[in-house]
Amino acid sequence: MKTIIEPFRIKSVEPIRMTTRAERERLIGEVNYNLFGLHSDDVLIDLLTDSGTGAMSAAQWAAVMRGDESYAGSPSFYRFEAAVRNLMPFKRIIPTHQGRAAEAILFSMLGGKGHVIPNNTHFDTTRGNIEASGALAHDLVIEEGKDPQNLHPFKGNMDLDKLRAYLAEHGDAVPCVMLTITNNAGGGQPVSIENIRATAEIAHEFGKLFIIDGCRFAENAYFIKTREESQKDRSIEDIVRDCFAVADGMTMSAKKDGFANIGGWLALNDDALATEARGHLIRTEGFPTYGGMSGRDLDALAQGLSEIVDEDYLRYRIRTNAYIVERLDALGIPVVKPAGGHAVFIDARAWLPHIDPLAYPGQAVAVALYEIGGIRSCEIGSVMFGRQPDGSEKPAAMELVRLAIPRRTYTQSHADYIVECFEELSAMAPTLKGYRVTQEPALMRHFTCHFEKL
Ligand SMILES: *Cc1c(COP(=O)(O)O)cnc(C)c1O
Repeated sequence: MKTIIEPFRIKSVEPIRMTTRAERERLIGEVNYNLFGLHSDDVLIDLLTDSGTGAMSAAQWAAVMRGDESYAGSPSFYRFEAAVRNLMPFKRIIPTHQGRAAEAILFSMLGGKGHVIPNNTHFDTTRGNIEASGALAHDLVIEEGKDPQNLHPFKGNMDLDKLRAYLAEHGDAVPCVMLTITNNAGGGQPVSIENIRATAEIAHEFGKLFIIDGCRFAENAYFIKTREESQKDRSIEDIVRDCFAVADGMTMSAKKDGFANIGGWLALNDDALATEARGHLIRTEGFPTYGGMSGRDLDALAQGLSEIVDEDYLRYRIRTNAYIVERLDALGIPVVKPAGGHAVFIDARAWLPHIDPLAYPGQAVAVALYEIGGIRSCEIGSVMFGRQPDGSEKPAAMELVRLAIPRRTYTQSHADYIVECFEELSAMAPTLKGYRVTQEPALMRHFTCHFEKL
């Protein structure tokens, strides 16, 4: 059959509160045009993030009831640890309350003034944690990955020549090489298994730790299976195992490809480093058999890890994005192609050439989309990445708007509604105005800054 159906039935529903356009225009003004400031019940379709917003399965809710809240040695922890190790064969697995807590622990050990850390593209919290430690974060994604229209199958790949030159230049200043799969800040684009292996080899040749930010490992594995000829007959689980087998550690947000509402982990093979990390964990998160999580969260996550590698689920998941991208493309709206794993990305710089990058064309699209249809998206451009560590501001590599699709949450008719809102937005695109930031915090300003319409 040509129609790919949602491979689940709905057992429990959550009503959507309908709002009018006039209401939404007032509400977004009241929160200074920052979509993070909205109450979520004033949003019709919430595509702000795919993080922790997925629907849990009946089996996960059952696992919640099995959760054991013992402070030390809970069986929930051992089920969690076994589920992680089944896919990612690391020696030491340290549970945290989300991905950024794993990053904070890692960079409190590996970061610090004078250090520099390369990645294909650092995610905002990764960059934030590195910079907060005094170190610098650098992005070395392949050139094709910066061109929203380039159809390269693995636009998240590390530029191996640049990485080699970087390691030769910076030497001892580099504590580790990171690789983010899929490349969230670069459009949710995948990294090939060939590139993962080659990146690991180069890191090891220079004596560096190789750390994977594995937030969307299952989606990445599905792209590997469907786009990398040598992998097409292999199971998702086997591909996942091979990806992590060459790494020395990983950070993970279980709110992504863990099907969990909260959770994460840091995994390491090096005993001394893991012991130091455990010390930080006890100080900041909790005892090592729960970290930042409750027993019921650990059990829901353990079950989620067995569901996320299901190929029928992944096919439906990836196809949903591709469907929206194809429809927007047909409307002449510049979208990042090919479709990424967890989100649809609009190229706002190409769409609104009349708005200067530092007047935030992505923010203009995101606000208009909310006003028109109650859809909440997220700017991933100069608002998020424009502020430099030295206080200056420069345009980001791309001005994107991300429509992140929560897992198993919305249906085909929601997708059609999204497309219809874009049709209307398309007609008014030339008249949209930019924004000015009127108030901002020192780090990760996009979450809380205030805007004014120009
Ligand atoms: C979400 C995310 C993180 C941070 O995880 P949280 O659970 O939100 O703290 C880090 N890296 C990537 C690629 C992410 O998508």
